[in-house]
Amino acid sequence: MQIIDGKLVAAKTREQIAKEVAELKSKGYDREIGLAVIFVGNNPASEVYVRNKIKACEEVGIKSYLCKLPEESTFEDVADTIEQLNQNPDVSGMILQLPIPKHLDENKLIDLIHPDKDVDGCTAAQKGRLWTGRDSLIACTPYGVMKLLDFYGIPLEGRNAVVIGRSNLVGKPMAQLLLDRNCTVTLCHSRTKNLKEVTSSADIVVVAIGKAKFLKADMVKDGAVVIDVGMDRDENGKLCGDVDYADVAEKCSYITPVPGGVGPMTVTMLIANTLQAYKSTAK
Ligand code: NAP
Repeated sequence: MQIIDGKLVAAKTREQIAKEVAELKSKGYDREIGLAVIFVGNNPASEVYVRNKIKACEEVGIKSYLCKLPEESTFEDVADTIEQLNQNPDVSGMILQLPIPKHLDENKLIDLIHPDKDVDGCTAAQKGRLWTGRDSLIACTPYGVMKLLDFYGIPLEGRNAVVIGRSNLVGKPMAQLLLDRNCTVTLCHSRTKNLKEVTSSADIVVVAIGKAKFLKADMVKDGAVVIDVGMDRDENGKLCGDVDYADVAEKCSYITPVPGGVGPMTVTMLIANTLQAYKSTAK
């Protein structure tokens, strides 16, 4: 059994990004390579995520802009901020930090982001591009999972992959990316019948449901690759994933731990996407 080291892959990827950013700067460039984070309200978990994103930008030499808006902001307030960032040439990419306050229409706001600056891959335009096999800015978490699979040289073609969870942010793009690499993909959700039967035949299982230690050893076959996207708390309040790691690990050929698996890749792919967005609009 091999543990997939997300910290290692993230560090190597960031090193590569920092090198590329430094090269672009040394050649002289007419705009900043910049990421804007729009943070509406004061969700405490988001505070941590936002800080990590800003820190990651600093680490690789990308400029960051934190646009903090109060909880009671109107749709127009947020829309105006997005529009200003759309117009700002020094902002290569932007993200709307989720969740946003309930009175705001999330999908409508997201779709105001210019697709070329949608570094979270969450606008309808970028999702459509991914779904139809065009070049796209890919949602950061599933993109990070693909990087991990590739770093470890895990073969994908013709293999049975099961994704549990069908969110727009993780499950659906994950299934699409595996399909693009010629896996035979089954996408499961809370109404799936006989989930255990489905997962037991999978060569690769990706779990993204938000239920602590949900996937047990009797749900995976010997030698399976298990990728745990979950970020949950166990009965003692300790960070854990959707996979019961202690139970499942011995059966796997590869497994991601939580923490230190998929998590470090998400922010890394956000900065990778920001660089890609800059380059694809460079003159
Ligand atoms: P989400 O939007 O809440 O979606 C959860 C999905 O899981 C839904 O499709 C739901 O099915 C399905 N589901 C729930 N219970 C299930 C069950 N018992 N059996 C089968 N399917 C079930 O969640 P998300 O945003 O995709 O996030 C999933 C997890 O990943 C969370 O723990 C989140 O914190 C974590 N996450 C981690 C990162 C990272 O960087 N590591 C990034 C993003 C998310 P229905 O559609 O039928 O309701």
